[in-house]
Amino acid sequence: MSHSTSGLAAAESAKRRLPPISVLKFGGTSVKSMARIQHVAEIVKERLKHGKVLVVVSAMGDTTDYLLKLAHQCTKNPDQRELDSLLSTGEHISITLLAMMLKTMEVSARSVTAYQLGIFTESVHTKARILDIKTENLADAFETCDALVVAGFQGVTANGDITTLGRGGSDTTAVALAAASGAKYCDIYTDVDGIYTSDPNKIPKARLLDRISYGEVVEMARLGAQVIHPRAVELARQYGVILRVRNTFKPEHEGTSIDGGEDMEIYRSISGVATDKDQACVAIMDVPDQPGIAARIVEALAKKAIVIDMIMQAFHPTAGLNNITFTVASTDLPQTIKILEELKSEMGAKAVHADEDIAKVSLVGAGMAGQPEIAARLFSTLGNAKINIKMISSSEMKITCVVSRGQADKAAKLIHDAFELEKV
Ligand code: ASP
Ligand code: MG
Repeated sequence: MSHSTSGLAAAESAKRRLPPISVLKFGGTSVKSMARIQHVAEIVKERLKHGKVLVVVSAMGDTTDYLLKLAHQCTKNPDQRELDSLLSTGEHISITLLAMMLKTMEVSARSVTAYQLGIFTESVHTKARILDIKTENLADAFETCDALVVAGFQGVTANGDITTLGRGGSDTTAVALAAASGAKYCDIYTDVDGIYTSDPNKIPKARLLDRISYGEVVEMARLGAQVIHPRAVELARQYGVILRVRNTFKPEHEGTSIDGGEDMEIYRSISGVATDKDQACVAIMDVPDQPGIAARIVEALAKKAIVIDMIMQAFHPTAGLNNITFTVASTDLPQTIKILEELKSEMGAKAVHADEDIAKVSLVGAGMAGQPEIAARLFSTLGNAKINIKMISSSEMKITCVVSRGQADKAAKLIHDAFELEKV
């Protein structure tokens, strides 16, 4: 979030006017039905004993999917401005119902959309980033109510166009509001107990972590652990907001706390194993080995907001030519191939290949840098099980292996066993 100098001063004085606030966010499954909305209202009412509450909610259940489907029934290529306006209605419904429910419980509640509140974003439809939040409006709103119910996922541009923040964007709304209001914590209520060492539905031995660092969660979330949106975690790290992932249906549980993890490395080098099956691998073969080539490829993809990962360009036996390989989300594959095919002719490359039969299996841990035996154990675990590794990449906090999709769950389970993650 950026402020102009005068905006900054106004925001600072508004911040001083704000009372201490608890920030709570409830996802789609938590507000799926009226019974659940009532349950959420009870949690909010309970919290009001400790001061004012700002609640961010997602659309009820699968509403966003349903709205997307409607748009695609209308046209194959929906106009992005209208699409955002449509998608934002899901959250508009849930805020009104929650505020209504709270009022039946004698709570002084008020619902606001992102445009009413002033959550300003860039003018990029369907994946806009937040630029500014009008803290003045927040302070004003809390002067007239105890529970402010804010629509997640929505934004508004300086021109007044409605935007959305990308799927799962309500987490980002909640963290941004926690940062804007100076809250120390942001509680993300969901339908699981917190963050585990791996997906407990697939690996029953997976263990609930009481604490994990921002960096590890970003990696785990990016690598397929869908508890919290990685962008929200990045933002929390940037503003020092402590996240707590908690179960709506067990509100008394503490859940998992996500923070800077300063002292964490001392007792734990690995935090989990994550799989991501919604991935595809692409390669552009025999591109000229010249300065600027990689930039052209990556820029062309970035222009379409296609996120790429595991980018590799390695030693190649044919002098003067390179192969560049990377992974993209499966949904971005058709567009990626189209862009690469265009570049291929422009740059005189030989071919574009795609492999959809892949999944990423990653070992994540803040304390694994400088411990080569971890990689050795990881690769031999897969090797001994005759699981072929198609690609490998590593960073300070993770080692990712691409394997064929059908073997991903087995690979994750073997890795979880090999590193005894149930004991971390
Ligand atoms: N309703 C939006 C979605 O389903 C945003 C969210 O749930 O966070 O993606
Ligand atoms: Mg949702």
